[in-house]
Amino acid sequence: MKKISILGSTGSIGTQTLDIVAHDSERYKVVGLSAGKNTDLLIEQAKRFRPALVSMASKADVEAVRPHLPPGTRVVHGEEGLIEVAAGTDADVVVTAIMGSRGLPATLAAINAGKTIGLANKETLVTAGHIVMERARQRGVAILPIDSEHSAIFQCLNGEDRKSIKQITLTASGGSFRDRTRDQLAGVTVDEALNHPNWSMGAKITIDSATMVNKGLEVIEARWLFDVTYDQIEVIIHPESIIHSYVEFTDHSVIAQLGLPDMRVPIQYALSYPERNATPTQRLNLAQIGKLHFREMDFARYPCLRLAFECGRLGQSAPAVFNAANEVAVARFLKGEITFLDIERILETVIDRHEVTDINDLQTIEEVDAWARKLAESV
Ligand code: NDP
Repeated sequence: MKKISILGSTGSIGTQTLDIVAHDSERYKVVGLSAGKNTDLLIEQAKRFRPALVSMASKADVEAVRPHLPPGTRVVHGEEGLIEVAAGTDADVVVTAIMGSRGLPATLAAINAGKTIGLANKETLVTAGHIVMERARQRGVAILPIDSEHSAIFQCLNGEDRKSIKQITLTASGGSFRDRTRDQLAGVTVDEALNHPNWSMGAKITIDSATMVNKGLEVIEARWLFDVTYDQIEVIIHPESIIHSYVEFTDHSVIAQLGLPDMRVPIQYALSYPERNATPTQRLNLAQIGKLHFREMDFARYPCLRLAFECGRLGQSAPAVFNAANEVAVARFLKGEITFLDIERILETVIDRHEVTDINDLQTIEEVDAWARKLAESV
């Protein structure tokens, strides 16, 4: 039986992970859960899955949760609580389904404790890819991607020599506004931006899909996960989200991974790897779908993707700044403080003003991250 801890159990990836666990309770056991503010859902999850440890973001919520927990479940809180759920249980696998770069210290703690990582929290690799991957290598820890594109690439590379990779192509649905021109983006609302055509996801990643920042974060994530150069990564628009991504090899063979857009498939693969188990999902019927479409990425239409490639190539502190500025800009858009197009303006301004520095430890990352957040709040 595999023991699992989930960072961000009340979110989109967290709840879908628990769906997989519930579907196969003989194979999986939940030992740790952590949530932000959603006390009701966390209590419900704790009653159902009976983990040894749960964590809430704030101390105030601990008092609200404690009386409703089943016997044997302990509750902790804050950054330290999150780290305890990541590293202080007997979990075999830690699913990082928390949103944003705040997942970094807990992910590193889980790696230090020798846990296999089911990585959904891409911001962690964007902010500190070189540190996370090096630590995982030193500790002999596997980082198994949950992002559908990266799970696809990971599956395409099964049994392949990584030296024979010619190009990795990440597919992008194009997000909520894929059929609009730039001029038509001027007055879009938060509700329109949150209406993703193919995937049901948390708010932040849905906005990131509409700006194409999400694909930018995924490009940087792919660079670290698969140890390829930015020249080896390409993005193509594929509106149906059936081909989740593909790899071209040196002999020009192309291997792709296909499936209906349902995150429970890559989540299950990260949990069951190297085995494959049944999932509670629909089967793909290509004859029914009939046609698949593709179009070249238009960097003028999606400038945030161009910026992400630039920051990735600059390396060091640039991706962390890109990510932190974006987290703030998206939060401001969701609060109605700025327009949709202001997100890219904020990103450009913050990156323009940043002087790239070396980042080799968590403290420097925190400083760079804080600098970018402060500026992004004030632009
Ligand atoms: P959600 O916003 O749905 O969930 C975020 C989770 O993080 C929630 O459980 C939330 O708790 C928790 N959280 C927020 N703040 C804190 C905090 N301070 N301390 C502890 N927990 C906190 O996000 P998603 O599930 O959509 O995304 C999670 C990650 O997975 C992101 O990095 C995203 O990019 C990535 N990802 C998501 C995909 C998807 O389909 N959703 C696909 C691929 C990758 P609460 O709700 O209780 O406040």
